[in-house]
Amino acid sequence: MILVIAVVLLLLEKIVLKPLRLLTQFTQQLDIHETDVHKLTRRSDEIGLLSRAFQEQFTCQQQLNDELLKMSTHDALTGLPNRRLFDQQLETAFSDTSTDSDSVAVMMLDIDHFKLYNDHYGHPEGDVCLQRIADAMYSLARTRDFFIARTGGEEFCALLPHISPDKARGIGEQLLAAIDGLQIPHSTSPVKPFVTISVGIAMQKDAKYQSPSAVVSCADQALYLAKEAGRHQVAFFSPQLASGLTPEHNAPQ
Ligand code: GH3
Ligand code: MG
Ligand code: MG
Repeated sequence: MILVIAVVLLLLEKIVLKPLRLLTQFTQQLDIHETDVHKLTRRSDEIGLLSRAFQEQFTCQQQLNDELLKMSTHDALTGLPNRRLFDQQLETAFSDTSTDSDSVAVMMLDIDHFKLYNDHYGHPEGDVCLQRIADAMYSLARTRDFFIARTGGEEFCALLPHISPDKARGIGEQLLAAIDGLQIPHSTSPVKPFVTISVGIAMQKDAKYQSPSAVVSCADQALYLAKEAGRHQVAFFSPQLASGLTPEHNAPQ
């Protein structure tokens, strides 16, 4: 009799209780070995059925989480990272560098006379133009290994860690040339008969306290200089030039 009870208890433990404990662990997403998950989901009884249902639910939840994360960090129109992700990357880049010789460059890029483009070609065509420009910038960012984001309507920001001012200027010129190369007609632009951009660059060391937002503000001032100087060019932040700006453009953001 005792032997029979022992065998029944043993079978109960092996067939029901242990799998149930595993299932509980699985549903709580606790540390559970892959082979145990496999064993659970391959079962043909109710435990197997429940495990497969949970697994499907987890996969679905993971996909939704990934999608949500992408939506909150990327721009829907161009697919580029958005300002939120740019700000995160900027913080990381700043905490990774501290010396002048290992500086971060922040680049602000803005389409010239884009309002005139929309007015002439229409907003939907303006959207297509933005997408083409974003693609061209992303393509260069991938090959030259830097980060680019769409941070505003027709404004983009690039982040170039561990770079010298000369090299940063070189990348700025390349981005400008890449957009020229698209030759997107812009018949009402006073600058060129095609779509152009202006670029403002600031180095980490330019900002007094070297905070991320202060450097972005310097890049914005450099962009303003490029616009003022006739657009379709790269301008570097310099304290002397910036002091000549109007107070409203000199104000920190
Ligand atoms: P500037 O050379 O000084 O930068 O002139 P601008 O006309 O480009 O600048 P402004 O700030 O006057 O106008 C920006 C325009 O960008 C106005 C706005 O309608 C357009 N824009 C912003 N976001 C979008 C967008 O998502 N799609 C389209 N089609 N246009 C946009
Ligand atoms: Mg513009
Ligand atoms: Mg703008």
